[in-house]
Amino acid sequence: MHYSINNFYKPHTTDEAISIFEKNPDKSVFLSGGTNLAKNNLSRYDTIIDIKSNFKSSIVNSENFFEISACTSLQEVLENVDLNDYFDGFFKKYFQMIGSWQIRNMATLGGSIASRVGWSDVISLLLLLRTEVKIVNKNEKKWIKLEDLNKGMKKGHIIEKIRIMKNGSKYGYKRFSRTEFDIGLLNCGVTLKLDDNKIKDIKVVFGSVPVAGKRYTEIENALRGEEIYEAIEISPELVNEMFDGKASPFISREYRFELAKVFLSELLMELAGVKL
Ligand SMILES: Cc1cc2nc3c(=O)[nH]c(=O)nc-3n(C[C@H](O)[C@H](O)[C@H](O)COP(=O)(O)OP(=O)(O)OC[C@H]3O[C@@H](n4cnc5c(N)ncnc54)[C@H](O)[C@@H]3O)c2cc1C
Repeated sequence: MHYSINNFYKPHTTDEAISIFEKNPDKSVFLSGGTNLAKNNLSRYDTIIDIKSNFKSSIVNSENFFEISACTSLQEVLENVDLNDYFDGFFKKYFQMIGSWQIRNMATLGGSIASRVGWSDVISLLLLLRTEVKIVNKNEKKWIKLEDLNKGMKKGHIIEKIRIMKNGSKYGYKRFSRTEFDIGLLNCGVTLKLDDNKIKDIKVVFGSVPVAGKRYTEIENALRGEEIYEAIEISPELVNEMFDGKASPFISREYRFELAKVFLSELLMELAGVKL
């Protein structure tokens, strides 16, 4: 029981939600799927603003991008036919790895990005695609790149929409967890574009390191332009030099590094169609 909660609002619009928040910013909190909030200590809040109940979930397929409302559940994203058709089953394959069906049915895309938990698969996966996030507060409404979220999103901002740009790359993703439903102890994703066996473009994301996923642009820069076999060969050395994984409960720093090397070289091989 959280006896400090005195007010529970269900606004119909983002502006309404923000104006409720602004009346008491230190003691108010937004609620979406509730899967993360439910396990926090809520005693510091007295107002919950439910931004899911009255907001519509939606996935719109436009010419250059998909636009997804923030309160769309992870399971809806996983099952969306247009998204999976365009991204070659990406969401069906990788969102399946997140928690259980019950969790995916509650947790929303916006809540998964906003909570920025270290083990997040959602953030790492969306970083592989070209993803933008619409953030709104009392002063501004703007689209920012997902990779700029940490500096762009402040207290009082609501994530309203997420845009995933269409492009023709190949994507691969791996994660390590102790059990099927457990949170990941390391995840790794690669986006690859080859031109005549040379790497034309690449994205490398590691997450749960233990902080939330981010791009490793130094590794990307070292691999861009390399011939794919050479890239596979040098990738463990690049991880040794440029990966910044640390120890955390259940996994040592050394084991994280070993996993990172294996994940990166295996993903490069898989995406390039190279057999061992
Ligand atoms: C048992 C379990 C296992 C899980 N396993 C995984 C996993 O393996 N991989 C993974 O990626 N995730 C996993 N998750 C989900 C993840 O940890 C978060 O719980 C979930 O993503 C939060 O989404 P939500 O919609 O429930 O957010 P909520 O709990 O409603 O909110 C979380 C935070 O974000 C804020 N917030 C929510 N929506 C918005 C918005 N639109 N704009 C601004 N702020 C907002 C809230 O104020 C709150 O501070 C797991 C969760 C559980 C409970």
